Amino acid sequence: MSYSVCLPNYTIGPDCYREIPYFARYYGKKTVVIGGKTAMAKSRSALLEGIAGSDLEILDFLWYGGDSTYENGDALIANPTVQQADLILGVGGGRACDTCKYVADKMDKPLFTIPTVASNCAAVTAICVIYNPDGSFREYYYPKLAEHTFINTAVIADSPYELLWAGIGDALSKEFEAVFSSAPDALSHTPLMGVKLSEVCTEPLLDYGAEALRACRDKQATRALEQVTLDIIISTGLVSNMTTQIPNYYYNASLAHCVYYGATVTRRGHSHRHGEIVALGVLCLLTYEGKREMRDRVMAFNAEMGFPVCFDDLDIGEDEFDAMADKAMTSTEWEYRPKDVTREKFIQCMKDQNTAGRAYKAAHPKPEQ
Ligand SMILES: [Zn+2]
Repeated sequence: MSYSVCLPNYTIGPDCYREIPYFARYYGKKTVVIGGKTAMAKSRSALLEGIAGSDLEILDFLWYGGDSTYENGDALIANPTVQQADLILGVGGGRACDTCKYVADKMDKPLFTIPTVASNCAAVTAICVIYNPDGSFREYYYPKLAEHTFINTAVIADSPYELLWAGIGDALSKEFEAVFSSAPDALSHTPLMGVKLSEVCTEPLLDYGAEALRACRDKQATRALEQVTLDIIISTGLVSNMTTQIPNYYYNASLAHCVYYGATVTRRGHSHRHGEIVALGVLCLLTYEGKREMRDRVMAFNAEMGFPVCFDDLDIGEDEFDAMADKAMTSTEWEYRPKDVTREKFIQCMKDQNTAGRAYKAAHPKPEQ
């Protein structure tokens, strides 16, 4: 059986849009921008400047519709301007990129993704999360990869602080989950590369995470922000693409994300961001594995970053752990967990982390405001 592996191509820097014409020359001269309203407003002048003087023409800037649904995608596919374009430029966050990936895939058109936030790896992955028009999850759609991704760090520096913050919390899970979930298996070439690549995901976040957040707050495209942006969009994206091949293997996420799914059925969990909850899930996973030294290091990082260290920080009570386990056990992550993971052990690691996190907070009281 033959198989294909597609890898992301990317350009990063505050003036990276100037490289768009160079990479677009293989695909044609007419492009259409499809994206989020805010994303297009914030990147429009830089995009026009980037292609100025080239023979590349932007036919129009089109709103993607507000959510990654087939309905929004199909409306774009029916749009004569999109049909006329040789190349699609997808601009915005995860949902805008996912919509453009679906549209480009269906229309057999090349796609450049232009992420304007560093909160996930949607710009470089071969998966779209598709929602129903009512906002509920519908299914995954598997498109081809974008031809190239342009990450303008000046635009990222101007993005909402909370999205970068949550993006760091989510990326923090990548190495720990990939290594943990793949450990019992003999890995073939692609997942082996993916798991090895996951090992570059943690350190840059611990080293530069706090500095990158300050850069985002000050709207400065610093080196720390660049390192963290590459971590969140590129490193995790490479790992996702190489560690997901359902039904053969799935090492892309594990128990930290099980904690997240569990939190979605709690009384107050939905008021917290995905990446925020995952950051606590990482501590639960490290506790599960008995990796105390790393757990304590990440716990100190979480405290510094304002991520949770115990379930009190998410307003989740231990009386909700049973319901959390029920929900977690319906996830893909649970289905592909190492087989010695049981419901009891899962609940126990959350309890143990709760105890450890509370002790940490008692030993490190916040200074009075
Ligand atoms: Zn996640």
